[in-house]
Amino acid sequence: MQFTDLKTQYAALKGDIDARIQRVLDHGQYIMGPEVAELEAALAAFTGARHCVTVASGTEALLIALMALDFKPGDEVITSPFTFAATGEVIVLLGGKPVFVDVEPGTCNLDASLVETRITARTRAIMPVSLYGQVADMAELNAIAARHGLAVIEDAAQSFGASYQGQRSGALSTIGCTSFFPSKPLGCYGDGGALFTDDDALAQAAREIRVHGQSARYTHTRIGVGGRMDTLQCAIVLGKLGRFEWELQRRAELGARYTAALQGLPGLRTLTVKPDRDCVWGQYTVFVDERSRVQTALKEAGIPTAVHYPKPLHHQVAYAAHCCPDCCPVSVDVAGRVLSLPMSADLTEADQDRVVSALRQALTG
Ligand SMILES: *Cc1c(COP(=O)(O)O)cnc(C)c1O
Repeated sequence: MQFTDLKTQYAALKGDIDARIQRVLDHGQYIMGPEVAELEAALAAFTGARHCVTVASGTEALLIALMALDFKPGDEVITSPFTFAATGEVIVLLGGKPVFVDVEPGTCNLDASLVETRITARTRAIMPVSLYGQVADMAELNAIAARHGLAVIEDAAQSFGASYQGQRSGALSTIGCTSFFPSKPLGCYGDGGALFTDDDALAQAAREIRVHGQSARYTHTRIGVGGRMDTLQCAIVLGKLGRFEWELQRRAELGARYTAALQGLPGLRTLTVKPDRDCVWGQYTVFVDERSRVQTALKEAGIPTAVHYPKPLHHQVAYAAHCCPDCCPVSVDVAGRVLSLPMSADLTEADQDRVVSALRQALTG
């Protein structure tokens, strides 16, 4: 059993993906070829955002988002420590300060009720992470940001395709950032990412920053990066879009099926999904009391699992300068319990049943 099955997906889409790759090889426009704009138009339409700007990775999307907002050294960003390192990393890379605010125990998303007291004169943005594929409390966070004149950057790397109050993840705030890393809900065959915004000036800034701050060829009006997504990867994502709605449906069904099957097991609790949103299960993650024992039992049964994430950023060595030892107790607690189970649109129900029975065996056997 694979943790993320990408082979079945490729087998289903092979004709279209291969043809799209061949078209790129034939026209030879490997950088900023026609597939780049085609993908940006398709993803803007899908999310409902006015602009989509493809970039080299999800990390690059977060970095470029901050740069487009004219983020300055010393500026602060309120974010969750219970995330992949990229979220905090881009803030520090630009000389800023990540201000870590704790998550909710049920969703593992930023606890909006704790945000306002952490705002200072240096705060520029709030950066919630839509962890495991469920959007954070964006309405509350947008309202706080509006009161204080802050930007909101959604880290939607795990939630592309998710809905929140009838709108798509990525199009819910000042800027939304996503990743096309192969195992994300919408992936390419390498690195890729995108940012979304309704703001014309921010979109223009992001387009310039991704090509070394050029407003015209060799006219560098700002400092930028080499941050383009290449044409081949855009072509691959275009090929994946043919099946994406079906995949979202399948992820929802498999997620609901896991959640129903795992109710009532001793020492296990499932993620809370709030009623005004869905979860695309970028990871299907549960909380278990005796994680290392359960993980070993599953491994012995041939079932791969992963831990997203074992240590929150505010306790990582690289973030020692931004550490607040006791500021995020829930993040520390869930980091010791979370366990991600095999999940992808092509997970078979037979394999899913094997995961569930191995878990039941480990917890009750
Ligand atoms: C994957 C991920 C990223 C980074 O995306 P890359 O494309 O790998 O750079 C950022 N934040 C979160 C929450 C992620 O899961």
